[in-house]
This record gives sequence, C-alpha cells and structure tokens, in this order.
Amino acid sequence: MRKIFRTKIPDFLKVNYEEWGREYKEKRNEDKRFKFYWHSKYEDIIDLLALMTNDHCSFCDGFELGAQSRKTIEHFRPKSVFPLLAYDWYNLFLSCDACQSAKRENFEEGLLKPDVDGYSFSRYFIMNYDGSIDINKKASLEDQKRAEITIRLYKLNRIELKKSRKSQLKYFIKCNDLEINDMPYRFMFE
Ligand SMILES: [Zn+2]
Repeated sequence: MRKIFRTKIPDFLKVNYEEWGREYKEKRNEDKRFKFYWHSKYEDIIDLLALMTNDHCSFCDGFELGAQSRKTIEHFRPKSVFPLLAYDWYNLFLSCDACQSAKRENFEEGLLKPDVDGYSFSRYFIMNYDGSIDINKKASLEDQKRAEITIRLYKLNRIELKKSRKSQLKYFIKCNDLEINDMPYRFMFE
C-alpha cells in the first residue's frame, strides 16, 4: 500500500454527498435489499480516483487494472455499516476487485488509510524477497497492530500477490531504466 495524495473533493460530491448518504441510509433502513447506486456518477468518480493513483489499486498497488483485475470503487468504511459515508469523497478509493472481495464489508478501527498524513509504506511494513510483506518490527506497538489489521483485511499476502511481486522484483533487478508509474507494487522499489 503506497501513500496517496487525495485531490480536492469534486463539486458534484461536495454539494450532494450528505443528502445522498442520508437517502441511502433511509432506503436501507426500510429495505435491507435496497440496491446502492452512484447517481450516474460512477464513471466520473472512478476516473478522478484513478488519477490519484496513476491507475493503480490503492491497496495492493496492482497495475494495470482492467487487464488482470477489474477496477472498482472501494468504500474504506463499508457502506453497509457507515451508510452516511457512502458518497464521502474521503471514504472512496480506486481498488482492484481482488482487494475489494478480500475485504468485503469488514472494517476494524486501526485499518490503515493510505491518504492520511503520516502514512508511508516503510513506517508500517517491510518487503521480503519472497514477495511477501511483513509488519515493520521497528514500528511502535500501535503501528504494528495497524499493519497487522491492514495485511489481514485486504489479504495483502495472498498467494497470487506474493508470486506476482516476486517476479516484478526479479524483473526490476534485471532492467534499470524502468518508469515507476508503469509498474505495479511501486512501494517495493522506493
Ligand atoms: Zn488491489
């Protein structure tokens, strides 16, 4: 998970997100099967989110989305539990569908949010040559706990990811003039 610099809230969300959130909460209270919808703004939102991450998944940094894994919008705090945040710009992230299906509607306080001040990969995690990510044992106990929650909820050591990161590491070591934004898992090389 790499640091993300959040861009300004788009006007159409600034004006509407509270009302849309309240409406979603009410409709859901009336009928649990009420289907969430994006008020025809899905494409606009996902494009703006993709600009922030250069089209990489916000959690595993997978790239190129669309080729191997579908891109989708992830609610950091799940909309089933936090319906008022369902359209909150600061709760929305570009995600691959693998990270999204790993996390589902789960959430624990302490889960790391990549767009907050003070977040960096190396503060919380270390990278192993086998492609796995570990908790940074030099971090404070609280930070270690947060790293543990984050790896577990997004399944950041799932087998396909470990394999894929390992082969990218090998590739990176072989070539020396790669453009970092064209590669997945950018935190490994920084
Ligand atoms: Zn992902």
